[in-house]
Amino acid sequence: MIKAMDKEKIFVLLEDDVEVLGNGQGHVFYREYLPVSRYLTLLKKYGLVSTFYVDMAHYLFLKENSHCKDFGLQAGYMEQTILNILKNGMEIQLHLHSQWVDAHLVDNEIQVTNMWNIGKLQQEEQVKLVTKAMESLTMIINKSDSINPITSFRTGSWGMQPYQTLYTIFEKLGIKTVMGPIKGLKIPRLGIDYTHMQSGHCPYYCKSSDINAIGDDKGSIVLPMTPTYLSLTDLIRYSVQVKWKGFLKKYDHDLDLNKTVLSTVYKDPTAGKDVFNFSLRPFKTHLKMNAQPFWLLKKTFRRSYEMVLHSKHDFKLMVVETHSKDFKNSFGSIEKFFDHITTKYDNLQFVTANELLKLVNEKKVKPLVKDI
Ligand SMILES: [Zn+2]
Repeated sequence: MIKAMDKEKIFVLLEDDVEVLGNGQGHVFYREYLPVSRYLTLLKKYGLVSTFYVDMAHYLFLKENSHCKDFGLQAGYMEQTILNILKNGMEIQLHLHSQWVDAHLVDNEIQVTNMWNIGKLQQEEQVKLVTKAMESLTMIINKSDSINPITSFRTGSWGMQPYQTLYTIFEKLGIKTVMGPIKGLKIPRLGIDYTHMQSGHCPYYCKSSDINAIGDDKGSIVLPMTPTYLSLTDLIRYSVQVKWKGFLKKYDHDLDLNKTVLSTVYKDPTAGKDVFNFSLRPFKTHLKMNAQPFWLLKKTFRRSYEMVLHSKHDFKLMVVETHSKDFKNSFGSIEKFFDHITTKYDNLQFVTANELLKLVNEKKVKPLVKDI
């Protein structure tokens, strides 16, 4: 048992992106409905809660194009996935991948745009997207018996700069907590730059004009993605495993992916993100669970835990970014990991985004505010 010396409580927010692949490839049934169903049974087995951020930009695209291919069916599976999550006592929040705005079909294949950072869309487009997505998501949630206010936003591809427009819409629609920024992350071709973030892991109220800056006690609260790192040995061990896995099981053997599209058209604008960070030793990254082996989940979690535990801030939060679309061959590792964190740590409290906000509203935890 890893005992915290001072028994300080650490809140853990598991946040799952419910989505297909960024380039538009992938089928909802295979990337969302099935893996989420399986994941829900694991969460329940270990008494854990997760918040599921559903990519409603994709949903809007499917609805608008429901006459094409089986898009109507896929939109239906997204609704079923949401209802299934709620039925299992978990939470739904809003996720948006802005490259779906103006996506279209070319030779019967989906072509997303290169606008992967929602902050770079025209102001009217941002307002329209967020408003429509909120309406649709609320309508689906209302089909269930659950009370699930939408108060949290997780952005696609970590991008939400410039922030001013989003700040205003979120304020109007009651979205309080936002996720995406990772201290140190810079992706110039998407206009993303978090090198000057004023808090690396402690939640903070941000300025309306600058999401990197700590602001007054109002508006959006940024929940930074929790930093962690890989040592050089981890990195080598992991790369070898990934290469070997990649050799055995290639993504493009999956039934729902078009091999030709993947090898010719696909260019991921976030590619190079990790190469940039590679120059930093040890290898800096953020806490996540996609398709990593158990040993890596365990090590990276432990490093974040130590850092958050020993930080000077009273509000101790770890955000674990998860991507259930990548879970298909990793449920064994995830189960081991859940078993590990629920038996080896005694001061973790798993919370959803709404539970966390309630704690803030009750002043039980305080996000950072600007010193006056
Ligand atoms: Zn996403």
